Amino acid sequence: MPALDPRLTEQIRAHLARTIEPHLYRQWLEHAPFEGGLDGGIDVGVPNQFASDYFEKSLRGPIETAVNVSLGMTRSVRFVVRPDATLPVRPEVAPAVPPAAAPAASVLVQVASPPRDLRLNPDYSFDQFVVGPSNRLAHAAALAVSEAPGKAYNPLFIHGAVGLGKTHLLQALCHSVRARLPNAVIDYLPCEEFVNAYIASLKEQKVEQFRARYRGADVLLVDDVHFLANKTGSQEEFFHMFNALRNASRQLVFSSDAPPKDIPTLEERLASRFNWGIVARLDPPLFETRAAILRQKAQQRGAVFPDDVVDFVAVHIETNIRDLESAALKLIATALVERRAIDIELARRILQEHTAVPSTRLTVADIQNAVSRHFHVRISDMQSRKRNRSISVPRQITGYLIRTLLDIPLQDIGGYLGGKDHTTIMYGIGRVKAKMESDFQFRATIEHLAAELRRLQST
Ligand code: ADP
Ligand code: MG
Repeated sequence: MPALDPRLTEQIRAHLARTIEPHLYRQWLEHAPFEGGLDGGIDVGVPNQFASDYFEKSLRGPIETAVNVSLGMTRSVRFVVRPDATLPVRPEVAPAVPPAAAPAASVLVQVASPPRDLRLNPDYSFDQFVVGPSNRLAHAAALAVSEAPGKAYNPLFIHGAVGLGKTHLLQALCHSVRARLPNAVIDYLPCEEFVNAYIASLKEQKVEQFRARYRGADVLLVDDVHFLANKTGSQEEFFHMFNALRNASRQLVFSSDAPPKDIPTLEERLASRFNWGIVARLDPPLFETRAAILRQKAQQRGAVFPDDVVDFVAVHIETNIRDLESAALKLIATALVERRAIDIELARRILQEHTAVPSTRLTVADIQNAVSRHFHVRISDMQSRKRNRSISVPRQITGYLIRTLLDIPLQDIGGYLGGKDHTTIMYGIGRVKAKMESDFQFRATIEHLAAELRRLQST
């Protein structure tokens, strides 16, 4: 039988490697030959009847899925005994009895859930996206693509300034495809990650693995492709990935802060391909949309803004939805911490802080004092090596506040916190950010502290 196109085999294997327990994959599938069968199906060579039974019983499901996903169509799979088909099992790891008795389900790490942790924000769904004249086309295109990936518009290219909803739309598309087609392989990543992974794969001489990963996707979404500007090598790789996926009718979705022709140094052939499907621009929202977004952000957090507050904020924040959202959150958080109503007076104060010009008045000592007072912990303890939570959490918060309010380099922050190195500081700041995402009360506390400190700064 003819061996399968090596690239296809590679894709099938890459898919299996992600969905099957690693030891089973290594033992049974890493080297199993895949061949084109007589009837257009796929034959998988196995060394004996024993192995054939095991494949039939425990591996058929995942292999069929991998084949269908990689080929983009349904093909029958047969297990064919070929005495020359070796399963290179090292004797010491070969089980005396193959784990054939295990129920098939246990073979899969994940069955219907996505094979990759996409780190999606659950709030970035179509439901939570407020539609208005400034984003209607981009929204409609994303929706259409999610309903018929690979068929509607390919590629979909969304561009717009920062904070206008590019990432939100891309992730909404992921959520929606995932809900409709649980077995589709979806890959969402910032372009920076693509570039870094590519460079790393060159260094480690693992370019083939790198390619297998991205080319195994049914829907590939790359956020912020303007990051390709001035990166010739990565553009070349991106170009080939584009061709491979689009030729195989896989859906491609990109976002960028500029239209293709305006991305500096972007190769013409790539720019023109970005225009092949549909290009949709996100504009800054109009007043009504801004007001609707504010109401929706409040509702999401179980709050209601009075009309005059909505108008006031929507009049003053015009260009960036992220700023609108953070003003809304700050309003809610401050009202919560200060146990007061959300009214126009509070809105005025919040917006003042929002637009305050940073001055050099605020010092590291101010921040240390504020944290020390708030958490009842001594500054000297925060600077010590003590690691109990009652000390390490305020220490991490101090690092976070110094970083966000004063923009001091990480190394220097370490100096203020008892000589911690910059990776420790970075880790601590990451912990604070993660907790702010998941714990609203915690976020309210931090934002309150930050707001108080900023007030100090602007007086
Ligand atoms: P970008 O990727 O374009 O910089 P994001 O997608 O990160 O922008 O959006 C910034 C913030 O604004 C996000 O929290 C997002 O949920 C919110 N946002 C953007 N557009 C909308 C919209 N139309 N409706 C509701 N929220 C939105
Ligand atoms: Mg973004």
